[in-house]
Order: sequence, then C-alpha cells, then structure tokens
Amino acid sequence: MSLHICNWKHGKRWVYSITYDEALIELHRFAVPIHEEYGIPGHLEAVVGHLGKIRQLGASSYNGFRHMSGEEMRDMIARGWGVGNHSWSHEVIKPDMVDREIGEARKVLEEAIGSPITLFCSPGNNVNMADHVLAACRKHGYLGAMSLTDALNRPGDELFWLNRTALHDQFYEPFYSEFDPFRNIRHAQEDGGWIIDYCHCPLEKPVHRNKDCSESQLRRRFETVLSEGNDEVWCAVPEEVMFYHLTRRHTRIETIADTPQEKRYRLRFDGLSERVACRTLTLDADVPAAWCREPKVWVNGDAQPASLVWPRSLRATVDVADGMEIAFHE
Ligand SMILES: [Zn+2]
Repeated sequence: MSLHICNWKHGKRWVYSITYDEALIELHRFAVPIHEEYGIPGHLEAVVGHLGKIRQLGASSYNGFRHMSGEEMRDMIARGWGVGNHSWSHEVIKPDMVDREIGEARKVLEEAIGSPITLFCSPGNNVNMADHVLAACRKHGYLGAMSLTDALNRPGDELFWLNRTALHDQFYEPFYSEFDPFRNIRHAQEDGGWIIDYCHCPLEKPVHRNKDCSESQLRRRFETVLSEGNDEVWCAVPEEVMFYHLTRRHTRIETIADTPQEKRYRLRFDGLSERVACRTLTLDADVPAAWCREPKVWVNGDAQPASLVWPRSLRATVDVADGMEIAFHE
C-alpha cells in the first residue's frame, strides 16, 4: 500500500496537551495569559455540580477559589480551549451514582457551554477509573477518560484510560520527584507519544506542591515543549487528538487503481462513532518523482494542495468521509 495514514495530524512526531482540573477562574491570573503568549490551547475539567460556585469541597487545597461558570467557559472555548466532565460532585463515584456523575453531568455541562462533551476526567485519583465508571462513560457517549497515571499515550492505545503527566512542583511520597520541565518529552519523541499534562491553577507559588506547579514552572514547561518539539510537536486540546486518533483507527483504505498514470483509493469507515465531530486525516503517499513538481491530491475528483515531505513522498491533511476517493496523478 503506497497510501499511509500518519499517526498524528499534520504528520507530527508527538503531541502535547495540558489540562486544568477544577476549571478555576483564577487561571486568568497567570495561566491564560501564558497560554495566549505561546499559542498553546488548554483544557478545563469542570465539576458540574459546582459551576460558578466558590469551591468548598472537603479539605481541598483550592477551597475559596471559584469554579468557572458556563459563560466563562464559553469564553475559553472561543480562545481555542476545551472542556471535560470532572464529575458532578468530585466524590468517589459508587455504582448507584453513575447516572448523575457521568450521564446527567454531561447534559448539564453541554447545556452550560453550548458544546458537546466527549471526555471524562477522573476526580481525586484512579479510584474513579473503576470499571463501573468507565462502562458508564461508554454508555453515555464519551469517547475517552483521563486518569492520573504518569505515562505517555500511544497511537495504538484505546482511549478509556488516558494517562496524564503530573506537572507538579513535587510528587507525593516516597519519591518526592522534583519538577522536571522535560518530563516525558524525550520519551514522547522516541515513541511518537502523546503527553497530557495535569495541574490545577499555577500562581506565584504552587498552591499545593504535590498538586500544582508555579506560573514560572508552567512558562518553563511551554518553552521546553516548543524548543524540544520544534516543528515536530502538535499542540492541541485532547478532543482534537481523540477525534484524529479515532478517525485513524476506524478508517480502512481500499486500493482502486495503482498504475504508472494514477493511484486511486477509497476510504471506508469501520465503526466510527457519530460523536467524532471532526474527521480529518493526514495522508502520506508514495508517488513517482514527476508527480511531485506540483504536489496535489484529488479528493472526490477535486484538486487540493499537497506538500512534499521527502523525494517521492507527498502529504495532505484532508477532511474525510465514508466512501471518499483519494487520488494522485501528474
Ligand atoms: Zn479534581
């Protein structure tokens, strides 16, 4: 097969996302301006039973801070951010609580922000990644669930146990690992992985050393991601990555013609969820050198620009549909 779907959009080698649990309004003090400066989108994990309310949850380090309202999260979506469900109550989700914590929370949050919710983010710790919680996520139309496991995500993984890299000043005992702006980056470069950073609300000093970083550490992380990543890192919200990942995993390529004059293929979707709102693939094709003088791809007969990535290799990022024809010729 001389047509190949890239592991990540735009043919990037690795992926970087960052998430902010609790979706606090105080993110506007430091985190949001730092994001605007670097052009990296962030992601809010909203506690749906507390939208717009001052935080008063158990002994939370963030009590006294305020959760964003639906309107305030709409403003963040307009800036390119995304929103996930961080449960209704932020408590341990027992089997008889899943309809409210997973099902009703999704509907209320969608209403509040005016956008679909496809991602669940486990509150507290991985206790809330229990089988009954993940089964409810699947039943209620989520496409993925994020844990607190410090590891990469890889192109072949399923999405109901997404790992997150703690972007914290210090880890919990017994390791007390210090803040590392390079954490998991070399690993992601080598394995073609996806890093999802996790913190809460970086301020002058970390609010809690084991739960957060400082604003200067956040800035250093972004500088490191961009300087190490150069043009090989794709910075995106988790939904965009999930949509790409699922479209790639559920697309089959059939060869219709493979002659010296033309290469023609048909794309077939195989069980792709209706909730994948954006269906885009980056395709690499091996073609004769003569076809590289004016790189083009024909999508259902219409020419679109392609780019040259290597001698005899063309690349195009295309919005795809079931049954679509992709062709290359001179
Ligand atoms: Zn939380």
